[in-house]
Amino acid sequence: MSDKFEFDLVVIGAGSGGVRLARMSAQRGARVAVVESRYLGGTCVNVGCVPKKLFVYGSHIGEDIEDGAGYGWSVPRDQVKFDWPTLVANKNTEIHRLNGIYQRLLENTGVTIIEGTAHIDDPHTVVVGDRKISTGHITVATGSWPVIPDIPGKEHLVTSNDMFYLPQLPNEAVVWGGGYIGVEFAGILAGLGVKTTLVYRGDLFLRGFDDDIREFVAGELRKKGIDLRFGTTIQAIKPEGSQYNLELSDGSVLEAGLVMAATGRRALVDGLGLDALGVEMTPSGHIEVDDHFQTAVPSITALGDVIGTPQLTPVALGQAMVLSRRLFGDGEGVMDYAAIPTAVFCQPNIGTVGPTETVALAEYGRLRIYRSEFKPMKHTLSGREERCLMKLIVDDASDKVVAAHMVGPDAGEILQGLAVAIKAGATKAVFDSTVGIHPTSAEEFVTMREPERTVG
Ligand code: NDP
Repeated sequence: MSDKFEFDLVVIGAGSGGVRLARMSAQRGARVAVVESRYLGGTCVNVGCVPKKLFVYGSHIGEDIEDGAGYGWSVPRDQVKFDWPTLVANKNTEIHRLNGIYQRLLENTGVTIIEGTAHIDDPHTVVVGDRKISTGHITVATGSWPVIPDIPGKEHLVTSNDMFYLPQLPNEAVVWGGGYIGVEFAGILAGLGVKTTLVYRGDLFLRGFDDDIREFVAGELRKKGIDLRFGTTIQAIKPEGSQYNLELSDGSVLEAGLVMAATGRRALVDGLGLDALGVEMTPSGHIEVDDHFQTAVPSITALGDVIGTPQLTPVALGQAMVLSRRLFGDGEGVMDYAAIPTAVFCQPNIGTVGPTETVALAEYGRLRIYRSEFKPMKHTLSGREERCLMKLIVDDASDKVVAAHMVGPDAGEILQGLAVAIKAGATKAVFDSTVGIHPTSAEEFVTMREPERTVG
């Protein structure tokens, strides 16, 4: 840390990673400023994880009301009403509360918050409006932004950013894309009574997830009335009154009042001036960094979505802690990307940790696959045809459980604990000797005794 500069660190972007880095570094005695052009808390707090989860809760309540009938609760269907503006307004109140918490977290640790758009003039100067800020280190934590494919009528597409502020819900919606955001929003819309179609260009959505999970989720979403159109894509969008006509590549036509692009997110580096500084980019358009988040310019580091590692809040938080320790602490540690658990909040949820069966097979050679599929106890009385899938992948040679995958209620909650066991190297024998919690769905993970099959 040097008096030569006004700050020791300027963080560009007050999202999950940027705020954590700023706070941790300030707590270590660094003079830190964070520059933010939009909202404190970034995508996660404002137009991502947090409001999405609130919408998922909200959309599931319709089913919960229906499920009550089997338990003796009678709520006449014509008396069930849902008011979208109420959900959006209450969500907004909660997000404003969180924005305030983020502001206080920064201010209480002595971080200077600078509102505006940052440009990096030279390796030690960040410019925001008229203000030139000199700094020892600069960290780019500007995150990512939805990509809109270049098709005729693309101006009619909305993205996840817009979904959180829609003035009203359409009767019919089309979600374009088969990744996390696509399946989550298809579930939210369908749960809120919108006739929903999901269009995905490949044979089966959720590329990168275990094939059993992908097929099972497709079946469950179809049961909920979501129209899944695989192997086709949107070629053009034409407005027709208050509706849109969509031309698909398979020749079919769809009509909807809302078309949402959930077609991936790109690194948000516009206007930073990275090119002129010599910061190198990867072919996918992300900032190139080494294991220590170091760019090609010694004083500039980067973390989070902008560097192309898994676009997950806990990953950015972990990176921030490692980087803060390197810049102002006592260590050179690196981020451990092994066995990152993740959940997709489609309905029912996906929870997963460790490789898919295909990837595990290539890595370990011979695997034992344990699989259980059942009706969750709750639905024995509700009568709902929803099922749950659990799968364990075991390396036959070492007996280590290398992956756990699940589709079912609270899969994210259940998988977090299993992620600890898998990271700790637990064997199947350890799983077998673990006493279950009865009666839960989770106990199935410690009671699957016979492999469904052995592969490799
Ligand atoms: P994803 O990369 O997960 O999915 C993008 C989808 O769009 C894929 O199905 C992809 O198809 C498709 N696609 C991409 N380009 C085109 C195109 N030009 N035309 C047609 N289809 C296209 O991105 P998301 O936007 O869903 O989410 C971004 C990231 O945000 C996620 O990867 C995840 O890391 C994070 N996230 C995490 C959440 C969580 O933790 N629960 C929730 C939401 C987001 P294909 O598979 O063929 O490439």
